[in-house]
Amino acid sequence: MTTRRDVLRLGGGLTAAGLAEALLVGPAAARPQLATPTTTGNTPDAAAWRELRRRLGPGAGLYRPEPGPENGEYGRLAPPDNLRYAHIEPAGIVACATPRDVQTAVRWAVDHGVPLAPRSGGHNYAGHSTTRGLLIHLRRMRAVTVSGERRLTVGGGATNSDVYEARAANLYFPGGRCPGVGVAGLTLGGGLGFNDRKWGLSCDRLLSTDVVLADGSLVRADARENTDLFWACRGGAGGNFGINTGFVYDSVPVAGLRATVFDLTFPLERALAVTEALQDLLAHDHAGDFDVRVGFSHPGTTPKDAAVMTVLGQRLGGERHLRKLLGRVLGLKPTRKVVEELPFWEAQDRLMDRDPATAMASKSLVPTVWLPPSTVQYIIDAVHDWRPGPGGGSGYVTLFAMGARSNDPAPDDTAFPHRAATWVIDIGTAWKPGTPDAEVRDLIHQTAVIHHALRHQLGTSAAYVNFPDPDLRHWQTAYYGDNHDRLATIKEHYDPHRVFDYPQAVGTSG
Ligand SMILES: Cc1cc2nc3c(=O)[nH]c(=O)nc-3n(C[C@H](O)[C@H](O)[C@H](O)COP(=O)(O)OP(=O)(O)OC[C@H]3O[C@@H](n4cnc5c(N)ncnc54)[C@H](O)[C@@H]3O)c2cc1C
Repeated sequence: MTTRRDVLRLGGGLTAAGLAEALLVGPAAARPQLATPTTTGNTPDAAAWRELRRRLGPGAGLYRPEPGPENGEYGRLAPPDNLRYAHIEPAGIVACATPRDVQTAVRWAVDHGVPLAPRSGGHNYAGHSTTRGLLIHLRRMRAVTVSGERRLTVGGGATNSDVYEARAANLYFPGGRCPGVGVAGLTLGGGLGFNDRKWGLSCDRLLSTDVVLADGSLVRADARENTDLFWACRGGAGGNFGINTGFVYDSVPVAGLRATVFDLTFPLERALAVTEALQDLLAHDHAGDFDVRVGFSHPGTTPKDAAVMTVLGQRLGGERHLRKLLGRVLGLKPTRKVVEELPFWEAQDRLMDRDPATAMASKSLVPTVWLPPSTVQYIIDAVHDWRPGPGGGSGYVTLFAMGARSNDPAPDDTAFPHRAATWVIDIGTAWKPGTPDAEVRDLIHQTAVIHHALRHQLGTSAAYVNFPDPDLRHWQTAYYGDNHDRLATIKEHYDPHRVFDYPQAVGTSG
């Protein structure tokens, strides 16, 4: 019998009242809480850890923060991608090789009252795949195989790069841009990429998934079995219902396809005209062949005038057509211009982003209207006026194009509710680990001010659950719209004792 346990809690956050006060009285008073996690769970003795090690299969490993030959593996597996949460060190890490290892780890953690967190790619923005208890790491379960005509079976620990590397069969499903992002986290929260306007979100291509539940059982969720769980696994976010050990996707044959990639940089003074032209183009691209990410960014380390606009994307098809389509944008004289037609897979490689890990925080919005010129100008000014502080923290607003096929499902067809979105807006900051707390608070406060302004200008608080914000109030509605109550009922059914828990887990109040 499982017992309810205390789990990792990230400390507080900027409350709505706090934000209102901060916005009223200015930056000096804005003090978002920095994450100060605490955890109260049982501390198993050495015999219990030995028992866990004995029960694991031959391909698995158990790593603890103690001197010895295995310490290197612990050090490699423990840090999350967001170094803001790197100080949260697990008491033990199970590197699972099979679903059975995952079952063993879950049962052991429950039996010993140890908090747990699953991790696949480790790219969660808000440290939700960190714990001071047992980290259940799926990275060894990364196989990608073809089954049936168009079915891609993907291990629960696979990343975007594993999927791209398994290209021999010329089968593709829409994934994300960063090679290290886990397919699990990406899919469970939705999944935006450069092909979602053409072929839907990652979660929209999911046919079935295997899940280890809180009682250690392994179940399948698809259109026939555990249908509510299947619905929840398409946008309800990772870490809520169980540990997904494998995914089967309906993939797209891409043999012979070509794409034209574009990578443009503009000075901010041309950003308004560029955004207008791009929005016009997106509004008329009903087939979803065209996809784009627009970045307004201040690099932080260099003077103000280094803030720029970047436009990165692709159109499925040849270069001549793309150049015609982008004519108005290219006419605005980018300072850097790459336009290149490539075979499909090479184009996806070109779009991959290999940014090194850093400490960061982000807020998001998901509007259903095109950005009016006044809002674009607000973003331009905010990024231009970004205050990096002595440590040189960067600031950015990134627009991820939505629409076309990614808006085809109804808001309650899957748990991902944002089916009338024009953009997903990511408002973020990154800083070097070791930057003083006061400076970090000021960076985060600047993102809060931008978020607050855009929320009012665009008339929405909707947010993307895969860009989680620990300071967000009313996150239940923001992430899930009207779907949260159904998700909470499903959570109650599959995980009544909240073995899978974190500060913004489905069904948490506040
Ligand atoms: C550099 C970078 C680039 C990104 N680019 C994109 C992008 O292009 N498009 C996009 O949509 N998003 C993007 N994201 C956001 C990304 O989708 C989310 O951070 C996603 O949750 C990461 O998944 P993960 O498996 O790497 O993360 P993890 O931190 O491993 O997991 C995320 C959450 O899911 C849980 N979890 C992990 N594995 C499992 C599992 N097997 N079963 C159940 N729960 C699990 C974790 O406990 C955690 O709560 C990006 C993030 C970063 C940092």
